Amino acid sequence: MAGARVDLDGRPIKPMTICMIGAGGFIGSHLCEKLLSETQHKILAVDVYNDKIRHLLEPGSSDPALPWGDRIQFHRINIKHDSRLEGLIKMADLTINLAAICTPADYNTRPLDTIYSNFIDALPVVKYCSENNKRLIHFSTCEVYGKTIGSYLPKDHPLRQDPSFYVLKEDESPCIFGPIEKQRWSYACAKQLIERLIYAEGAENGLEFTIVRPFNWIGPRMDFIPGIDGPSEGVPRVLACFSNNLLRREPLKLVDGGQSQRTFVYIKDAIEAVVLMIENSARANGHIFNVGNPNNEVTVKQLAEMMTEVYCKVSGEPVLEQPTIDVSSKDFYGVGYDDSDKRIPDMTIINKQLGWNPKTSLWDLLESTLTYQHRTYAEAIKQATAKPVAS
Ligand code: NAD
Ligand code: UDP
Repeated sequence: MAGARVDLDGRPIKPMTICMIGAGGFIGSHLCEKLLSETQHKILAVDVYNDKIRHLLEPGSSDPALPWGDRIQFHRINIKHDSRLEGLIKMADLTINLAAICTPADYNTRPLDTIYSNFIDALPVVKYCSENNKRLIHFSTCEVYGKTIGSYLPKDHPLRQDPSFYVLKEDESPCIFGPIEKQRWSYACAKQLIERLIYAEGAENGLEFTIVRPFNWIGPRMDFIPGIDGPSEGVPRVLACFSNNLLRREPLKLVDGGQSQRTFVYIKDAIEAVVLMIENSARANGHIFNVGNPNNEVTVKQLAEMMTEVYCKVSGEPVLEQPTIDVSSKDFYGVGYDDSDKRIPDMTIINKQLGWNPKTSLWDLLESTLTYQHRTYAEAIKQATAKPVAS
């Protein structure tokens, strides 16, 4: 089965060893699952946590052996300060770097940690790959585009409807960030600089690289539910915030009215794009790829409405009288928050190089994700919020 797999040019795919940094996170856990179940590649999984991949590392009570045997090895390493990292990169054919602080609530409240994590901590990874002639797939973000050109036009200006004022193209669009005091942009700026450094290593020292710009990948295991598997005061990304509100039967909080627009792609569709990059190096090297679903665009308010409807369907619970409330970004995120207005990925390059297209509609991906959230957390929330019984 796996031996017969071929790349996009019909060549047999040779099994490789992949050093995956940040393998214990949301994207890493899905990528590990896919590589173990559908390919013969080996994974050196690096992270400080492994909760989201524990099911891949330890046999369950029902299945005494893992079907992929010893093709995954977990290394509990903080890449900030661990000399074992270079050895692992040298042992691997390919390094994938996913490690980052990447929740917006941190960008304006922990800007130093954000900049260190996304730029300084990624530097040795790039350096070791370049010095040892190893291929690198680096995870950047759609946030490097910042705001759209159109966002600077008056609200009712007709050019705002012109795609050339909002569609984001890897090789043409500028990176437009707010002023320094809007610390939200610390993340985007750090990611932009590491992209430029990787690109320069490619140009000057021949580093073989691919840069991925995810556009709001969502699905099961994204972030955490505050007070259940993460800190009570923690603020995860929007999918987990809204899931938490739905599970607790609280109104969903719309930051500044929820007028920002996003395109959401199902994690399982996006992972297929990453596997194509891994297995088609000649087509992926030297490229920056948008990975998103331009057909799944909604305002955050529309997302809240759709998630409410889907959650009622999967949980059987009725809609609240007041399903959403407006909150100011200052109250929700604190000073220094700012927002990307609209994110439509141009898909020309990934289509041409890898023939990839997303498949799953927003409704379908929310249905499978919220079914997972309900199954995983509803009981724990019920117990956590149950009033102690008087004895
Ligand atoms: P995540 O937070 O779930 O995963 C990141 C993982 O990196 C975590 O498990 C974390 O423990 C690990 N990590 C962080 N610092 C580390 C360190 N110093 N040493 C070892 N491990 C460390 O995030 P994710 O959603 O899986 O995102 C992965 C990458 O994709 C990030 O670089 C992020 O910026 C990028 N990205 C993701 C999205 C998305 O839609 N999910 C969007 C834009 C960009
Ligand atoms: N947001 C919201 N309510 C929440 C959480 C987030 O209205 O409870 C908004 C946030 O202001 C942003 C969008 O949802 O406009 C997406 O936020 P996310 O944290 O997923 O990250 P982003 O797409 O901004 O990187």
